[in-house]
Amino acid sequence: LGGRITRAIQQMNNVTIIDEKALNDCLNEITRALLQSDVSFPLVKEMQTNIKKIVNLDDLAAGHNKRLIIEQAIFNELCRMLDPGKPAFAPKKAKPSVVMFVGLQGAGKTTTCTKYAYYHQKKGYKTALVCADTFRAGAFDQLKQNATKAKIPFYGSYTESDPVKIAAEGVDRFKKEKCDLIIVDTSGRHKQEASLFEEMRQVAEATEPDLVIFVMDSSIGQAAFDQAQAFKQTVSVGAVIITKMDGHAKGGGALSAVAATKSPVIFIGTGEHMDEFEVFDVKPFVSRLLGKGDWSGLVDKLQEVVPKDLQHELVENLSQGNFTLRTMYEIQCSLQIPLNQLYSMLPGISAELMPKGHGDESRVKMKRYMTMMDSMTDKELDSSNTKVFNESRIMRIARGSGRLVREVMEMLEEYKRIAKTMKGIKIPKNGDMSKVIPP
Ligand code: GDP
Ligand code: MG
Repeated sequence: LGGRITRAIQQMNNVTIIDEKALNDCLNEITRALLQSDVSFPLVKEMQTNIKKIVNLDDLAAGHNKRLIIEQAIFNELCRMLDPGKPAFAPKKAKPSVVMFVGLQGAGKTTTCTKYAYYHQKKGYKTALVCADTFRAGAFDQLKQNATKAKIPFYGSYTESDPVKIAAEGVDRFKKEKCDLIIVDTSGRHKQEASLFEEMRQVAEATEPDLVIFVMDSSIGQAAFDQAQAFKQTVSVGAVIITKMDGHAKGGGALSAVAATKSPVIFIGTGEHMDEFEVFDVKPFVSRLLGKGDWSGLVDKLQEVVPKDLQHELVENLSQGNFTLRTMYEIQCSLQIPLNQLYSMLPGISAELMPKGHGDESRVKMKRYMTMMDSMTDKELDSSNTKVFNESRIMRIARGSGRLVREVMEMLEEYKRIAKTMKGIKIPKNGDMSKVIPP
């Protein structure tokens, strides 16, 4: 997506006369790119209209930086669309809050309930989980397992079949136990059947939640708006959590969910693990959606974990376009973040280039890469040209690290891709990372 938008804007830069047609062509190209990223059609149209109002043709013609003006307008407009104007209810300590989770089956409710509980538990909340899913076999076991792992009290039943009764009992019990945050997991059906909505309505009536969170799978594509709207019409949804953002870099559904529920996205799920859960932040999200990367996130991370002396060296290397395998090694070594996370922070890396796989897989991959790089000579690590890796070198590295030749080649390919992007980034000599110019 980012690639297409950037290309559309660049093409406009090449046009000598910026008239309405040139702007329209550019906006049409951007429209197509946003649609492909699952932003719903009416929203894209709305954005197009607004941008035409904001972008002044005279400004464009007068030789101002056209690319910047349009990019800024798109960025601001997408940020505006993700902000419903009012924050979500935030649970308070020492006062019991009830939060109910809704969404279709498989959306990630049960997983996200635990992540949400765990997140708040770490912040000092006394949390508890209630399993009001009596529809799916094994639902209680799943919640029980998750809760036990996170050491969170839970309530549920193997025999009771009435979800409303269980929900009410569970909430009652944990209110008596003076919990701050009582989380109710509900069932979801495959489709949006009437019975699902009726059950949901009854559970909400019985538990009087302070907040209803709609959980949505990021991979549902253009169906996002209708789905979110159907839930909003039955229970008073007050916040959205988008799951599986690790597998699908497309995030357009988030805009639809916000528009349909008039509620903010509060978290995103980025993996199956308890801690693969991020507070949703509009600006970095839009940056990633536009393929600009979460550069500020990467810089923060660098400054946080890379030792000061190494930081300088790293910046120096990067600013000279000198992204060697050693640089990659050092980044991975000190950041300890999997490659796909690093990717999502880099400007200009589009969704199609994102390595597939979930948190665990990429962690394993990172370790594998490190072992392979451990088997390289200094000369190899410091070379920025992968041509030095002839057949015998590759075989030696594979043998030395106990990996396959194919795996070594795969790593070199990934290195080349990152290096190419890094070369396009301009980092000021003084190392002021906040003034970095993305490609
Ligand atoms: P529910 O039916 O809505 O309760 O959904 P579950 O919580 O049972 O999740 C369905 C599947 O999605 C499970 O295999 C989860 O491990 C997986 N899942 C949930 N959230 C995420 C996420 O953020 N990333 C990934 N990769 N998988 C997730
Ligand atoms: Mg479930």
